[in-house]
Amino acid sequence: MPEWGRGVSADLHLHSRYSGGTSSRMEVDLLSQQAPLKGLGLVGTGDILHPGWRREVREKLREVGEGTLEHPRYGTRFLLTGEVEDSRRVHHLLLFPSFSAVEELEERFSRRSEDLGKEGRPHVDLSPPELAEEALSVGCLLGPSHAFTPWTSLYKEFNSLRECYGDQADKISFLELGLSADTYMADRLSELSRLTFLSNSDSHSPWPERLGREFNRFGIQEPTFEEVRKAVERREGRRVVLNVGFDPRLGKYHRTACSRCFKQFELERARELGWRCDDCGGWVKKGVWDRVNELADLPEPSSPPHRPPYLRVAPLAEILALGWGTEVRDPRVRETWRRLVERFGSEIGVLVDAPPEEIEEVVGREFSGLIMAFRRQELKVFPGGGGRYGRLELPPHLSKRGQRTLGDFT
Ligand SMILES: [Zn+2]
Ligand SMILES: [Zn+2]
Repeated sequence: MPEWGRGVSADLHLHSRYSGGTSSRMEVDLLSQQAPLKGLGLVGTGDILHPGWRREVREKLREVGEGTLEHPRYGTRFLLTGEVEDSRRVHHLLLFPSFSAVEELEERFSRRSEDLGKEGRPHVDLSPPELAEEALSVGCLLGPSHAFTPWTSLYKEFNSLRECYGDQADKISFLELGLSADTYMADRLSELSRLTFLSNSDSHSPWPERLGREFNRFGIQEPTFEEVRKAVERREGRRVVLNVGFDPRLGKYHRTACSRCFKQFELERARELGWRCDDCGGWVKKGVWDRVNELADLPEPSSPPHRPPYLRVAPLAEILALGWGTEVRDPRVRETWRRLVERFGSEIGVLVDAPPEEIEEVVGREFSGLIMAFRRQELKVFPGGGGRYGRLELPPHLSKRGQRTLGDFT
């Protein structure tokens, strides 16, 4: 068993139904029930600064230690987490040590926020260093959310960690990679080598196609805030042992491309054209790939010794739908998903851990080959850009039903 075969799978960034654009089913009970089916032992509450959501969290979960909660029926553990937008519209992920820290920060933010208490992910009119200082002073862990996305992120707005966080930069302990980047992209920026990378779903719904579509595996003694803090700070042998997430090429903004017709451009060419598409006149949006190339001070990824592997996966239902050449809601997909999850205990068990010969026993050689092709990165990827997701194509030996492409990934 590889070192990362053991540990707690955790998704620490999601949003409740009190955030804009989220599922009305994003409720504590359902989340607690779905998390173990995905294979997550630990999830973030998300939106804990919101009083309505916090009330539900307090009602439905019991505190098993400071800053650590558990669902009495499903056993799913939770940490107190939230996301805040600063005055520059950069998003930050916060992990709180206790309810009292949440309430303390809510009190301080309320003087600088119009929508705290209304919106699950509030806008706070503080600069990034001011916001970081406040959060760190109540004992939070804080880092940039989805740091490379071309919206509301650190590297959309700034060119370095120090430019963003100023005198607080050295106290930032982690960076969230986001769906559009992975370790190998981020490790071309030497300023990030000190940080722990987190890979979280930013899910807006409780279903396993979304929840845990990216997650971290923590090498910790038990799922508690204190243990996670040690892991993020890499103390006493605790650490993140595996990051798991999307192939960043599938992201909507991976390549520089036209936001109307999705024609892709080299960065130089986009500049020459003044960021206007020469086919349709639409605006060209800079891709994450080109943005990382602009920022990178290393020609090749250079991961520090503490960096865990990054495993690229997709939601199991998406993989099965690709195999059937159909939609995720197809009853055949659901039935196959159910059989696999019943046999291996969870979706992550199937995607990451189950031996191929055992998968074959349940669903036959074709599907086990497909799942292994994912693990081994053998699928052909057509990168996304301009707001359109990338596509996947099966290798010829797996595409008996003809060439299938996988479109809408989130
Ligand atoms: Zn965000
Ligand atoms: Zn165009």
